[in-house]
Amino acid sequence: MTLRGRLTAAFLAVVLGPVLLGAFFVGSTLAALDRGRSTERLGLAATGVRTSVDALCQQLRAAADAVALVTDPAARARAADQVVGRNLAAAVLITDPAGRTSYATPGGPATPWQDCAGAPAAGGPVRALAARVHLRDAAGADLGTVAAAQPVDPAFVARLAAVTGVAVTLLDATAGTDRVTHTTETRGVREAVLAAGRALDGDQVAETADGRYVRRVGPAPGQPLPLVLSVPGELPPGLYAALVGAVVVAALLAVVAAWRLARVTTRPLVELAGAVDQVAHGDLTARVPVRSRDEIGRLAGAFNRMTRETGSYVAALTSSRDQLRGHLAVLGDTLASTHDLQRILRVILHSAIAATGARAGAVLLLDGDGVLVGRCVEGLDGRRPGDDGSDPATLRVPVGAGVIGTVAATGEPLRGRWEPTAAPAAEPICETYIAVPFAAPGSADLAGRGPDRPGHPPADGDASPAGSGALGVLALYDRVGAAEFDDDDLVTLRTFAGHAAVAVENVRVHEEAQRLSLTDPLTGLWNYRYLRESIRREVERANRFGRMLSVLALDLDRFKDVNDTWGHTAGDAVLVEFARRVRGEIREVDLAFRQGGEEFVVLLPETDARGATIVAERLGAVVRDHPVPVDGHAGEPVRVPVTVSIGIAVYPDHAATGQQVLDVADEALYAAKAAGRDGYRIAQPPDPTPAQEVPVVAAAVSPADGQPRAGAPDTAGAGQGGASSGPHPPRQSRGR
Ligand code: GH3
Ligand code: MG
Ligand code: MG
Repeated sequence: MTLRGRLTAAFLAVVLGPVLLGAFFVGSTLAALDRGRSTERLGLAATGVRTSVDALCQQLRAAADAVALVTDPAARARAADQVVGRNLAAAVLITDPAGRTSYATPGGPATPWQDCAGAPAAGGPVRALAARVHLRDAAGADLGTVAAAQPVDPAFVARLAAVTGVAVTLLDATAGTDRVTHTTETRGVREAVLAAGRALDGDQVAETADGRYVRRVGPAPGQPLPLVLSVPGELPPGLYAALVGAVVVAALLAVVAAWRLARVTTRPLVELAGAVDQVAHGDLTARVPVRSRDEIGRLAGAFNRMTRETGSYVAALTSSRDQLRGHLAVLGDTLASTHDLQRILRVILHSAIAATGARAGAVLLLDGDGVLVGRCVEGLDGRRPGDDGSDPATLRVPVGAGVIGTVAATGEPLRGRWEPTAAPAAEPICETYIAVPFAAPGSADLAGRGPDRPGHPPADGDASPAGSGALGVLALYDRVGAAEFDDDDLVTLRTFAGHAAVAVENVRVHEEAQRLSLTDPLTGLWNYRYLRESIRREVERANRFGRMLSVLALDLDRFKDVNDTWGHTAGDAVLVEFARRVRGEIREVDLAFRQGGEEFVVLLPETDARGATIVAERLGAVVRDHPVPVDGHAGEPVRVPVTVSIGIAVYPDHAATGQQVLDVADEALYAAKAAGRDGYRIAQPPDPTPAQEVPVVAAAVSPADGQPRAGAPDTAGAGQGGASSGPHPPRQSRGR
């Protein structure tokens, strides 16, 4: 059953119940009142009947007495006539002791007469009512009777009715039949009155089907007539029909009202149910009309508010999801497309800030000295005294110090609210923070993995002094909304820290691979590939800044003999030692390459021919002066004397391009070999004029510093041993 049906039924029950009860109460009360009044009227009428009959009987007895007082029979007959003539009785009958009629006034009613005092006549209708007195002589002997009678006819009954005010019916009391003798009731109802009266005795009152009340009076001593009194009820005839009609009308009205009320009540609920259904299917635009300010109206308003807020919440979630998706896309693209660590860290930091709703953040990487150095910061301006937040590297936190340092030292993330007193100046000032460490997978030996970097010994196995293996720390500050960062943020941040770790690791691996592809595995010097790139770059730089660039081409002398004498392994050892000595003799900005075999190239940026000859002499000397110790054939230590020939070319003096400058350096080397080895030569200028060849050009482009001149045949050996005489630049380990 629907709610509407239940409401309708309940309303009907509430309305119709009292209506029906009321109708029943009104009907029964009116009926009881009517019955009471009618019973009272009938009681009064019965008394009236008895009084009237009694009065009539007394009148008749008085008349009979008057006749009986007369002793003379003839005079008695006259007295009887007088009594009738004066209307004291309708008829007088005088009988003798034997019961024979002595005298009867003419025109009397038919006999037998009902005696007032006697028992009711059993048989035939009552025709007359009579009083009888006995005639006696002086001695008391019976002389007969005198009876005075009054006819019981319709007029008599009508008089009774007029006296009592009710309808009077005289029954024929013949045994077995109760027929109506006379009545004042209307013809149509007499049978009903008869039927009701027949069943009664005593003072009972019955009610007929047409609403009359009936009471029987007599026959009884003193009132010998079998009479039925009846009165119509005083209730309006259509009362019950009107009551029923009213109830029906009320019921109809109640049904209509209940239906309408139920509809008005349930309609908003139906609308609400429909809207809820819509929402359940994902349509958050569903709204219900607010028709009233009552509880249902408030419910509808609350529902609308709820869907509106949910809708905007969902929209916010969607947009933040889209934002995050965008960030992730950028992050993915960045990770996939570049090895620019700075850019990657910036994108990671940006995405982490967007994902957690932080206001600021920083990525710090551990440097070799156990200090975390800011590599990328966002929103940190004004958070540290005297720092405008533009240079991330000013953010430096020693491992173990403050929040960031503790995170790096322990390898455990931290989050919480800042204790202002505990804030060390090194870290940004904030209200809430979260910091997670990140370490490359298997990071403990990260720095020690792979071959050594050129010119550097292997680093220690652990990059972190505290042994946590941290590469760095990702820290975020001041979550929007002032709430502390929660565990979800921690999970999110760990993801981004993982990205950062992979990025740092990737970049390092990439750099390592890059380096490996550019170095010579035997000597650790740069390889030929890197030489080509470097010469182009250095030429360009020299060109841009108007500086010079010197190129030395080196070739070990008679190296084939070393191999042949001491074996290939010893030859390799000589090459490694040679490379080490070369590295030791050049500046940090200089670059040393192994071109192949026992041929090498050294680039000397910002160096002219004079500087280059100084370096060439020094290199020649450092090789020549100390024979290289190697293992002999039987494993015994032997010292192998080695010398090197060097060709020198200067950009832009001797060539216009990188390749050309290499070529002319080779040519100068060739010249040095040709001149007897263990010495150097400066290249010839590009001027094709044969007459002016080497000496002129060399003198023209190199400063007059008194140094030996390459290219002059007579000075070919002058470089030998001259290295120690020139100024010696500070010895530095070689770098990139
Ligand atoms: P010069 O240059 O003075 O004319 O004489 P050379 O003996 O050095 O002549 P050349 O340049 O023709 O010979 C180079 C020799 O260097 C040939 C080869 O045996 C040797 N060599 C080249 N590469 C290596 C290497 O990687 N290891 C060793 N042990 N020997 C090498
Ligand atoms: Mg060679
Ligand atoms: Mg050689």
